[in-house]
Amino acid sequence: MRDVLIVGGGPAGLTAGIYLCRARISSTLLERQIVGGQAMLSPLIENYPGFPEGIEGAELMERMKKQAENFGLEIIAFSGVDRLVVEENKKVAFSGDQSFEARAVIIAAGRSPKKLGIPGEEEFTGRGVSYCATCDAPLFRDRRILVVGGGDAAIEESLHLASFASIVTVVHRRSELRASDYLVERAKANPKINFLFNSELLELKGEGVLKSAVVLNNITGEKQEIPVSGVFLYVGNVPNTDFLPPEIELDENGYIKTDSRLETKVQGVSGAGDIRSGNRKQVICAAAEGAIAAMNAQRYLESTGARKPYEGGSD
Ligand code: NAP
Repeated sequence: MRDVLIVGGGPAGLTAGIYLCRARISSTLLERQIVGGQAMLSPLIENYPGFPEGIEGAELMERMKKQAENFGLEIIAFSGVDRLVVEENKKVAFSGDQSFEARAVIIAAGRSPKKLGIPGEEEFTGRGVSYCATCDAPLFRDRRILVVGGGDAAIEESLHLASFASIVTVVHRRSELRASDYLVERAKANPKINFLFNSELLELKGEGVLKSAVVLNNITGEKQEIPVSGVFLYVGNVPNTDFLPPEIELDENGYIKTDSRLETKVQGVSGAGDIRSGNRKQVICAAAEGAIAAMNAQRYLESTGARKPYEGGSD
């Protein structure tokens, strides 16, 4: 049995791994996809301290992964946890036909993009519909693109897409964007970006590939069919909590509830990063929570007698 199992390989999980393994606490990280999490998809992270010119999300996450591996973290990618069982002295994660036992668990499984659930969305995913501008923007060079959503992700990704597309139209259901002012200012100043406010995407149409999008003006009731090659959806996210047992409490939006030490009501199980209720959904916040959860997991292991208390002074 290992000391700590980390579920999720984004900034929270990898930082937890760095702290735990540096403290010589045997830890394994399970990640259902490639390691790095949603931050991997960010074309440029400008507000992570230490990188004055900004850093590509993929590069930042590769560096975190390497740092964790340098301290000896066992990382197992493409191993999603299907089920977590929590007992007093043992936690077991099931992944396919494998099981992983640990004394403590840090849940850092993050979030996934929310779907709109409109006709054509599933049919044209990968054929014009995308949830990742960083991955797919170059496919739409000199084409017309719609971006749906009015948050930071929609506006940040519109700016990225504008350097490839001929025109980017942001379709937002209200008359005001909720994205940060600095992003909105940049988008409004970009001649390739325009906005359709009070507008909702109703349907996506095409033949094999996406050809057009039907948009409703929710004030006038008017519908228009816009010829487009690409539609990028940034309408929020849903937490990846399907595998959690009922003992782990969730808030009304499905995010993990913790106390101020990031611990759930189950002893030895904590939540960190985007999956946690109250987290600010920033890479720096996820990384900080990974560090806090790791230090508190260490205290938990000491309290159960599984580890000798650290006698080297303060943290
Ligand atoms: P978000 O802030 O929740 O915004 C989602 C957007 O989608 C909102 O504008 C919302 O409209 C719209 N929306 C939701 N459901 C919809 C539906 N069914 N139909 C049409 N529109 C719908 O999500 P996000 O932009 O992914 O950001 C998530 C978090 O990550 C935020 O805390 C954000 O600050 C953070 N983030 C930060 C950065 C950065 O700092 N650079 C970058 C990306 C994300 P309403 O406005 O009407 O609700």
